[in-house]
Amino acid sequence: MQNNIPKSYDYVIIGSGFGGSVSALRLSEKGYKVLVIEKGKWWKPEDFPKNNWHLRKWLWLPFFRFFGFFKMTFLRHVGILSGVGVGGGSLVYANTLPRPKKQFFETGSWAGITDWQKELEPHYKTAEKMLGATRTIQLFDADLALKEVAKKMGHDKEFEPTDVAVFFGEPEMEVADPFFDGEGPRRVGCNFCGACMTGCRYNAKNTLDKNYLYLAMKKGAEVVAEQKVTDVRPAGKKDGSDGYVVTYKKSTSLLFSRKKQIKAKGIVFSGGVLGTVRLLLDMKEKGLPQLSNMTGNDIRTNNESLIQVHSSEKEKDFSKGVAIGSIFPPDENSHVEPVRYGSGSGFFKLMGVPLTFGKNGWNRTGKLLKKLITRPGTWLSIYFSKNFSKESVILLFMQHLDSTLRFKRGLFNLKSTVSSGKAPTSFIPRAKELAEHTSDIIHGAPFVMTTEALFGIPTTAHILGGAVIGNSPETGVIDPHHKVFGYQNMYVCDGSAISANPGVNPSLTITAMTERAMHFIPEKQKE
Ligand SMILES: Cc1cc2nc3c(=O)[nH]c(=O)nc-3n(C[C@H](O)[C@H](O)[C@H](O)COP(=O)(O)OP(=O)(O)OC[C@H]3O[C@@H](n4cnc5c(N)ncnc54)[C@H](O)[C@@H]3O)c2cc1C
Ligand code: SF4
Repeated sequence: MQNNIPKSYDYVIIGSGFGGSVSALRLSEKGYKVLVIEKGKWWKPEDFPKNNWHLRKWLWLPFFRFFGFFKMTFLRHVGILSGVGVGGGSLVYANTLPRPKKQFFETGSWAGITDWQKELEPHYKTAEKMLGATRTIQLFDADLALKEVAKKMGHDKEFEPTDVAVFFGEPEMEVADPFFDGEGPRRVGCNFCGACMTGCRYNAKNTLDKNYLYLAMKKGAEVVAEQKVTDVRPAGKKDGSDGYVVTYKKSTSLLFSRKKQIKAKGIVFSGGVLGTVRLLLDMKEKGLPQLSNMTGNDIRTNNESLIQVHSSEKEKDFSKGVAIGSIFPPDENSHVEPVRYGSGSGFFKLMGVPLTFGKNGWNRTGKLLKKLITRPGTWLSIYFSKNFSKESVILLFMQHLDSTLRFKRGLFNLKSTVSSGKAPTSFIPRAKELAEHTSDIIHGAPFVMTTEALFGIPTTAHILGGAVIGNSPETGVIDPHHKVFGYQNMYVCDGSAISANPGVNPSLTITAMTERAMHFIPEKQKE
């Protein structure tokens, strides 16, 4: 450990995802000296893998020296998919930027504090502009199948193309930045290869390193990659009013790496739920004991269900299009989207088994075995499929209905516990109904992650909460301006601050909420 602290910043931002990147730009614009510390790597378009069989380039599993950008975390009550790298979840996400319905703004721990929908409206507009939200210009086989499902369920009028963070210019033609009057990087048009979730190799996806972070660095923000923050504690007075000491170490070194320290007047926690909540829970035990007892509480999953349907229609190509090209609400509480991986990506077939439904685990196992024995051809054709992503649609089902978990410190990782609310479940009848309709329409068979079928553990790409907004430390970890209760100049700006289930993909909301939080921070005063 170094005794002489080499550098001092106005703000250290932990993590470079949606919350971190917005914070980096807005604080730099206000004249602050900013450092962003990111655990994952920098990625250039040509570095992304061609498909998800390139496990070393795709998965983040540092123990095995896999330094990719996609992380899977399995806890007792939830399986979590997330992104790691400069740009956070934007590297791996499916670019979709819907706005939540009214119920999101009126439920959860933040309900009633203000008119959130009205207050956030201008910030949603800014977020859409900055992320380059553009209506999908072309629908493909998976979207057309979903449109049929919507029609069958009487919701075809509400079926629509998605707004996505993609540049729809001429494919393969590089042009000057089309989003920020030439201030941003040069870009290439989308070719609808469907590979957005294994990283865009064509420079068409508007990842955060091409908008917020790029512009922040132009304003002087520094970004260090492959460094993990392990400790944050007050430098002097215990409320942090003398600033903080941040400890970090290399995240990709072979053996043990030397710890480094820097000083910051302010901290923004933006490590995503897995990063921020873990760090806050650790710090509550060590350097930041005044953190609210709500830390780790109110974890939400968007009440999500992910079901794949493998089609027997070989002439269709479900891998073409942007990763999510359409959406419809099958009822007033839910949304569904068809998700695709690009051609050649078939890793998830190894983790899947036939969809089996029901709350009793033994009963499900029995049903599963029966399906495997009575229809072996169907399932063998999935496992031996040569181009699984061309033949499959993933249904992403989300609800704003409430369900919560609590995260605590485990021995090696976080551990999930059931809190006072209803826990998320894999068995949502509406999701099953959608899978069955889709299977009928594309002549397919539905299947889910093994962890869902055998252990009833739902999987989510939208882990949220754990440092929610409240009126007091009894109801939240942060106040309505995202300031951490009990500490000065300390903020949480990422998915952990989401205080109810949005029922739609959350990145636009995380971006808008961070825009609003940053808007309250004054310009730097001359010293
Ligand atoms: C496959 C997939 C598809 C998705 N598709 C969509 C979609 O279409 N639309 C949508 O809205 N959302 C989508 N999401 C969800 C979206 O990616 C997340 O909700 C979003 O990225 C969360 O943003 P965040 O600011 O909370 O943090 P993140 O974007 O998760 O970023 C956090 C960053 O902090 C870093 N970090 C964590 N801990 C530390 C530490 N201690 N020190 C240093 N760095 C640290 C992490 O490496 C990471 O890069 C998808 C997610 C996945 C996995
Ligand atoms: S569809 Fe292909 S080219 Fe278009 S944004 Fe996604 S990965 Fe990039």
